[in-house]
Amino acid sequence: MASPISISVHKTPHSKIKGIDFSSLVFGKVVSDHMFVADYKDGKWGDFRIEPYGPMEIYPANATLHYGQAIFEGMKAYKNVKGEVLVFRAEANARRLNESAKRMCMPQIPEEIFLEGLKKLLDLDRDWVPQEKGSSLYIRPFMFAMDNYIGVKPSETYRFMIFTCPVGAYYSKPVSVKVETTYTRAVEGGTGEAKAAGNYAASLYPALLAQKEGYEQLLWTDGKSHTQIEESGTMNVMFKINGKVITAPTTTGTILKGVTRDSVIQLAKDWGQAIEERFLTVAALQEALEKGTLEEAFGVGTAATIAFIEKIQIQGKDYLLPPYSSHSFSKKVLAALDGIKYGEISDPHSWIIKI
Ligand SMILES: *Cc1c(COP(=O)(O)O)cnc(C)c1O
Repeated sequence: MASPISISVHKTPHSKIKGIDFSSLVFGKVVSDHMFVADYKDGKWGDFRIEPYGPMEIYPANATLHYGQAIFEGMKAYKNVKGEVLVFRAEANARRLNESAKRMCMPQIPEEIFLEGLKKLLDLDRDWVPQEKGSSLYIRPFMFAMDNYIGVKPSETYRFMIFTCPVGAYYSKPVSVKVETTYTRAVEGGTGEAKAAGNYAASLYPALLAQKEGYEQLLWTDGKSHTQIEESGTMNVMFKINGKVITAPTTTGTILKGVTRDSVIQLAKDWGQAIEERFLTVAALQEALEKGTLEEAFGVGTAATIAFIEKIQIQGKDYLLPPYSSHSFSKKVLAALDGIKYGEISDPHSWIIKI
């Protein structure tokens, strides 16, 4: 099939790959050789190109630096035993980027530009996709304002880029989390469901306070009453209580519509596992912890896939979860998702694109 867009390719004469130790990758530190770039001006996308990864020039008055019109995506590519590159649910990420763009007054990027740019970049940098189980190539598509103007209004020019990072397993050990009831990540009518850079900026301080107390992540609660569990800031979150899996609905506009979340819900339904999209109150979570009916709790997101939770703090009190060896649903779901992503089992929902 002919490519729907023409992409110019400028290959690096100095690949960095020889100097990389693929056995000790720190998440997000190592970037592959090339990046995809597209520019938006006069109402359309153009100048599609792949270039060596490197610095770029922007003006101090660049609108992103002042008013934060910046959105991003995160997804992963994997290598199967034949050495083929498999990307997980890239269309879903392309769609979500456009939903985020709408909320931030940014232009839509046609899915075929997103996907063609991605495929060409991955084809060129396929040697950067690690083959070892647990490791993968993290893909970071993003878009930001390019106007050189500090008036407050939506920018008229934008840049869309994709770069990639080979990564090892994200959370190798179970995590401890703190239920946050002072600070707020998102409120109804806000930007919580957009994957917007500013949401992260606002979450860093409360996350840092929790880290100082010894917790790796927060469990955010609703911004109004702080009584309902929403999500974990880089991951959606699920609980298994009395045999039922519960995860917050994404209908309030305050929770990111995770692709992993959606995939886990689909697999649970395929297996006949009861799964409910409803809010769990902090009080109900606490009661389940006290009665011992909480069987499993885990974050779900691209970076970690499944992050087992071993400890939850509620209002200063620590609760330990049952040992990870008994977390049957999350372990089964992790094995199934890994199996699909590495091309080891069948892919009944056509989630994989082969490059
Ligand atoms: C990206 C993200 C998630 C997880 O989404 P995935 O598509 O599963 O990676 C969850 N919450 C927030 C706030 C996010 O930005």
